[in-house]
Amino acid sequence: MLSSQTPAHQKNSLRFRLTLWFGSLSLLTLLCVGLYVGSKATEQMQRASGEALHSTARAAAELLGNQLYERELEIVLLSQEPHFVRGNFDDPDVIKSLQRRRQVRREYAWIGVADAAGTVRQAADGLLVGNSVTQRPWFQSALKNAFTGDVHEAILLAKLLPANTNGEPLRFIDFAAPIHDATGQVVGVLGAHAHWRWVTDSVESAVHHQGMKRKAEVLILDKDGAVLYPQHLVGKQQLMATTETATTYASLRWSDDRTYLTSIQPVDAPSARGLGWKIAVRQPLDEALQDVHMLRNQLFGAGVIAALLFAALAYWLAQRVSQPIERLVFFAQKIQARAPDVPVLHDDGVREIALLNESFQSMTQSLLDKEHALLEANATLDATVQVRTAELTQANAELERLATEDALTGVNNRRRLDEKLVELEHLYHRTHREFALLMIDADHFKRVNDTHGHAAGDTVLRALARQLQASTRSTDFVARFGGEEFVILLPDLTDAAEAIAVAEKIRHNVKASQIDVVGQVTVSIGVALMSPSDIGPESLLERADQALYQAKSAGRNKVVYLPSDTGIPPTWTETPAYLA
Ligand code: GH3
Ligand code: MG
Ligand code: MG
Repeated sequence: MLSSQTPAHQKNSLRFRLTLWFGSLSLLTLLCVGLYVGSKATEQMQRASGEALHSTARAAAELLGNQLYERELEIVLLSQEPHFVRGNFDDPDVIKSLQRRRQVRREYAWIGVADAAGTVRQAADGLLVGNSVTQRPWFQSALKNAFTGDVHEAILLAKLLPANTNGEPLRFIDFAAPIHDATGQVVGVLGAHAHWRWVTDSVESAVHHQGMKRKAEVLILDKDGAVLYPQHLVGKQQLMATTETATTYASLRWSDDRTYLTSIQPVDAPSARGLGWKIAVRQPLDEALQDVHMLRNQLFGAGVIAALLFAALAYWLAQRVSQPIERLVFFAQKIQARAPDVPVLHDDGVREIALLNESFQSMTQSLLDKEHALLEANATLDATVQVRTAELTQANAELERLATEDALTGVNNRRRLDEKLVELEHLYHRTHREFALLMIDADHFKRVNDTHGHAAGDTVLRALARQLQASTRSTDFVARFGGEEFVILLPDLTDAAEAIAVAEKIRHNVKASQIDVVGQVTVSIGVALMSPSDIGPESLLERADQALYQAKSAGRNKVVYLPSDTGIPPTWTETPAYLA
């Protein structure tokens, strides 16, 4: 879904972006919460571990201090008992008293009394009786004061006692007190050697009683920081730096190059102070923080699950948000493509989306309506344009007709005749196709007007024009030249006779026809053919006019052909044989 191969258009999609945003946001939140909780928990668990070490060390130090103090006190009190004070060490009460102590206190490996000269006079089980202890520190110190001595081995005593089951050498700590007689004179020394194991057992039991979750290691250190216990570390490990015992606990580097969470407490008893012993309880740092690591792992696991859940939730949310918009896009595309199956958008229940839907629908409808109206207007416009174009074409044609047609008779007007003459003349000069010009004039037309009125004259002119058209071919050209004069152009002629024949036919037909009210009219016709000597149509017109003049002069109702300046006399006809 979020692979790097996602196509670009998918990467730009709203759904993808929303998923990314929601997912990133929840991951970020998760990360922040996780880091905060993790660091707080680490801090607390480290403190809890350190405090547990501290309380264990304190309990062990207190217990050991008390034990040492108790033994010292016991020896002092015993030394003050009357049978000792009397100075007679052969008194059976002395040995009884010693024996009883040994039985009650199993920690005493040896308990006995030496006289002021340093000879052992009595001892429980008779051990070392008669031996000299003058060189022993406990004896020498106890001649002055009560004494508690540091741990040591005692070869002589060790030989008389059963060996340690674990193979460790037997070691002892000494308690001793001077015996004063009634005068205050030192008469002897009461001494006891306690098993070192008793010391270590009491320290171990203190640790055991503390019930630490993870096994902590307890060490007894001498005043220089050297290990006294446990045996396997003696002479091997040493506290590296001088340690502030006032602090509750600290991460300390030991001589084995490992860091331990360590708590160090001084063994605080009046007699033991001189010893300078310290109890150290330590745990390798990584072991002490094992719970923290476990918690971190659990947090990480929970984080991964939560992240997956959040990602799924983000995708679902993104889908929920983007779906209506995707539908709108689909809808818009359908409309854009003018698809026939535009879907009906349904209500998603989200107010804004519903409103958007509504606006979109009404906008689309209004656009469609507008488009429809526009199409209709276009169609109307097209139709109007067509009608107007047709009207315009018609008007143009009418104008054209009016520009080229004679208003009264409907044949071509003078303007059109001039154009046609130029056309034919050009054609003549290019192709030498001959053409003839017939100039036709109504005879005594003035009289028609005078006799029957101008309107009747007009009627005659219209009838004449109709007759001229009827008597010629459609390829011939009939025009009103002016007044009661007409001109006919005959293109594609073979010779003058053909033109004369047409003129004759016209003259005859006019004469033969009867016009309402007026009756019979006649025309005179001048015929001329275009010749190479003619310069422009004017000379042709003039020749035709001359021919017409001659026809009039010759008595009217005549056709006169006037050739170009050939010297040949004009040909005139009245009633040719084929019309007679
Ligand atoms: P001829 O040509 O035979 O010599 O005699 P004519 O009477 O025809 O002679 P003229 O050319 O002098 O007279 C032509 C007359 O035609 C004069 C004029 O009143 C008349 N006329 C010209 N144009 C029109 C027109 O458009 N309508 C009518 N009714 N008469 C016209
Ligand atoms: Mg005239
Ligand atoms: Mg006339």
